[in-house]
Amino acid sequence: MNVTQEIKSRLDIVDIVSETVTLRKSGRNYAGFCPFHTNSRTPAFFVFPETQTWRCFGACAEGGDVFSFMMKRQGWEFKETLEHLAQRTGVELQEFTPEEKKRRSHADKLTDLLGAAADYFHQLFLHAPQAEQARHYVQGRALTEATIAAFKLGYALDSWDACRTHFNAQGYTDQELIEVGLLTENEEKGSRYDRFRNRLMIPIRDGDGRTVGFGARTLDKDGLPKYLNSPQTLVFDKSHLLFGLDMGKRDIREARQAVIVEGYMDVIQAWQAGFRNVVAQMGTALTEAQLQQLKRYTKRFVLALDADAAGAKATLRSLQVARQTLDRDTEVRFDAYGLVQHEARLQADIRIVTLPAGEDPDSIIRADPARWPQLVAQAQPVVAYVIGVATQDLDMRDAKAKTAVAQQVIPLIKDIADPIERDHYWQELARALRVDERALRQTRLPETPRPSAPPSTAKSTPKSGNGGTAVPRLTNGQTQGGGMRQTHYLSQCLHYPHLIQQVNERLVQCGQTAVTEKDFLHPEDRAIMQLLPQWVQSGGAAHHQAVVTIDELWDILDDSPTAPLTRRAQHLLSLPATPDVEMERLADQLMLSVLDWRLEKTRELVNEVEQYYKEAQIENDAEAVAIYQQLKRELPVVVWQLNKARNAMTAANRRRVADKV
Ligand SMILES: [Zn+2]
Repeated sequence: MNVTQEIKSRLDIVDIVSETVTLRKSGRNYAGFCPFHTNSRTPAFFVFPETQTWRCFGACAEGGDVFSFMMKRQGWEFKETLEHLAQRTGVELQEFTPEEKKRRSHADKLTDLLGAAADYFHQLFLHAPQAEQARHYVQGRALTEATIAAFKLGYALDSWDACRTHFNAQGYTDQELIEVGLLTENEEKGSRYDRFRNRLMIPIRDGDGRTVGFGARTLDKDGLPKYLNSPQTLVFDKSHLLFGLDMGKRDIREARQAVIVEGYMDVIQAWQAGFRNVVAQMGTALTEAQLQQLKRYTKRFVLALDADAAGAKATLRSLQVARQTLDRDTEVRFDAYGLVQHEARLQADIRIVTLPAGEDPDSIIRADPARWPQLVAQAQPVVAYVIGVATQDLDMRDAKAKTAVAQQVIPLIKDIADPIERDHYWQELARALRVDERALRQTRLPETPRPSAPPSTAKSTPKSGNGGTAVPRLTNGQTQGGGMRQTHYLSQCLHYPHLIQQVNERLVQCGQTAVTEKDFLHPEDRAIMQLLPQWVQSGGAAHHQAVVTIDELWDILDDSPTAPLTRRAQHLLSLPATPDVEMERLADQLMLSVLDWRLEKTRELVNEVEQYYKEAQIENDAEAVAIYQQLKRELPVVVWQLNKARNAMTAANRRRVADKV
């Protein structure tokens, strides 16, 4: 793609024209009054979304693409227009470096291969005798031929090498097949085999309709995983993709709303029934990158959660954790804090609807399509939804329980950007709790946010038989202070890798354990903390002033790094190294910093345990009570040890300084 193509692919001409011309839908196209000649009777100006062009059938009889429209509207030269639109779409205008050109043409080759693979699987689905089971499955879903063709549903043979052989014969190398995730390589055994076998193949396309990967559903009754996706590749990044966007973007614009569902089949079924403003997140998490993409078409999002995912209380439990993750650019799974923040940042309107228990959009639409729009219309704004869930089973005679709900919801209300909306929810919460609004506004919030389990483990409590090995409801609770210390520690260790060893020696001297990835809150930091020592061991830190480069770190990885990991590492490396500092002193500082964050974390755990201990008692959960009791005994000892180490360290520091004087 050249620069103008790149810019065009990121723009929609309907958006651009709509900025100055009122358009209304006319068949598949849009019509309005031509901005270039005086007219008010017949809308003779047309925009064609499919070709991304415009034409005036009136006096001017002119037409063109988004560039010519902007040039005419603004009276600009091409160069000016190019610069403006490049800036607007974030496309870099500099000539691509030879490397970048190579990377792009390589990416193009990979999407070509994936497109060819989609055709190959589709043909097998339509014609191969072995695909009978796949066709049967799709029949069971009542999908029509037109739908099957539109989504290019396919079938992967029950074979270890059919796909490989087919594409080798077409001149594609194993390496290329591995790169797009069609072939899996087991390096230990030195074997290579087809990744997808006996599965229904659902091509996943990007917003522009290019096939970038596959979602593959098992056809074995007990086959696992139920859905196998392409691995992360150069062209397949789940956190940036929305299934169905290429098919639904125009309808999303027209409906002024995008409905986000969980499964591929949900999208396909909705599309067949004529509800085409529906997309699916990929896998488990909804990312801001995905919302950003959708925002090109609408600012109103409806999340259709199945009853299980909404899991009422589970959703609430994850609120606090989500909050901690907000300062990072990360995935947030349907949790209210994340969504409220997304709303503010994206200036969007996010609503939630819970589907009836045991149903998903696929089953609802198949049973009675008319129910779908009704359900979607019931979507509630995030905060209203949370208030509803939190007060659902609330005993209105239980004052303490009311306080607990208030403490959960208030931070959410305080996060709302718009003052009128904020006020509205103060009132709504007061009504829901049947308390005076003034009392509510005076509610004291716990000093540290009340921690709860991360979303993935939200549903498991000690009841689920985790023994005493782990207390899943406990977070790795750390406040922002801890996060900042960890950021500082990691950035300095990336600049001066031999510091890791020096800090660890100090810790061990004081009876503490060395720093491991478990010390860190953010998953990306944990990953980096696992890689760094390996890099040092591999001889990377032979020179004392050796600075780690990202590429060197990634060399250690088996897989390519995820986008959040890359971003995090880049951020850490962009932070300044402590200049001209004495290494000894920096090691001392970092060691204290480690002790401080451990102290902070332990103190939070103490509070948390207290809270859960009480809950477990109320719930009469003997096993949980025992676990929390044990922790109540152990944690203060940990605090004491940490304080001791800290004191010893500062005393040693004072001595060292005194010696120098
Ligand atoms: Zn005209």
